[in-house]
Amino acid sequence: MSLPIDLHLHSHCSDGAYSPRELVRKAKAAGLKTIALTDHDSVEGITEAVAAGKECGVEVIPGVELSLNYEEYSGIHLLGYYLNWRNPLLNEALTELRQVRAQRGEMIVEKINLLLKQQGKLPLDIAKLREKAKGSVGRPHISQLLIEKGYATYQQEAFDRFLVPCNVPKKKLSPHEGIELIKAAKGIAVLAHPTILTDERREESAADQLELIHYMLTQGREGIEAVYSGYNQSQIDYYCELARKHNLLITAGSDFHRQEGRIKLGQLGTGLNLPGDIAQRLGERYKEKYGDYPITVI
Ligand code: AMP
Ligand code: ZN
Ligand code: FE
Ligand code: FE
Repeated sequence: MSLPIDLHLHSHCSDGAYSPRELVRKAKAAGLKTIALTDHDSVEGITEAVAAGKECGVEVIPGVELSLNYEEYSGIHLLGYYLNWRNPLLNEALTELRQVRAQRGEMIVEKINLLLKQQGKLPLDIAKLREKAKGSVGRPHISQLLIEKGYATYQQEAFDRFLVPCNVPKKKLSPHEGIELIKAAKGIAVLAHPTILTDERREESAADQLELIHYMLTQGREGIEAVYSGYNQSQIDYYCELARKHNLLITAGSDFHRQEGRIKLGQLGTGLNLPGDIAQRLGERYKEKYGDYPITVI
């Protein structure tokens, strides 16, 4: 069974290919009823996405994706849902994170250029990165530059050959800071793709995942992305069971960025048995905690 929802999407306000409006239209064309825009460190696209959703009849949940680190877990991603995206504290923090991302993007390009020089190859053009990445700068933007130059043929190869070896860590919040920031904007904090917890996307052992999941629980995280692109039924059942045990919400998202990528909009997996009320329960949780979603923020 496939669900008409996708609660993890990126637009060109971070490292996705499409504008928020284009993304909503594509979601409509794909038959989706409820989506969430979850750009990295940015809520800049939400107003446009919500308006586009109203125009074409798709429910758009405001969201964000933050990067956190804790001990050896260098790339924990936290989704925030139903937040008041106009909250000043949230916007101040995100602006600072994006400034750091822009500087870090240029540092990564400089590192890659040193490597290219050693290989007798022409460097990447930093001006092109600025052109390409107008919102929240991420490594996928640099991956596109590498592909355009012919130094890699697809994103995974660009990461393996250049972006993982030349990575520069970006400023990350602690789990406590990230969760508090989302709560300050009256959002619901959810651990994204629980198998990916480091910047190198090392596959974590089940024990390490559990350690982190439990730690995040102590910090006030409220949900877990139990359904994610590529997850099989036994993984999904495992996270759903954990969620049940700890009274956590579950969410479902593809992490779609662009048509050419491996991940397709709204495709959460085939032949899966998924709970049908995921989006509904997320909305209910919001209501229980904060009351009706304030129309004034829309
Ligand atoms: P950043 O936030 O700039 O560190 O970029 C992280 C994003 O890059 C992730 O959200 C993924 O979309 C992508 N990414 C990270 N690691 C890899 C990898 N090993 N292969 C392909 N894409 C990756
Ligand atoms: Zn991304
Ligand atoms: Fe992520
Ligand atoms: Fe994502």
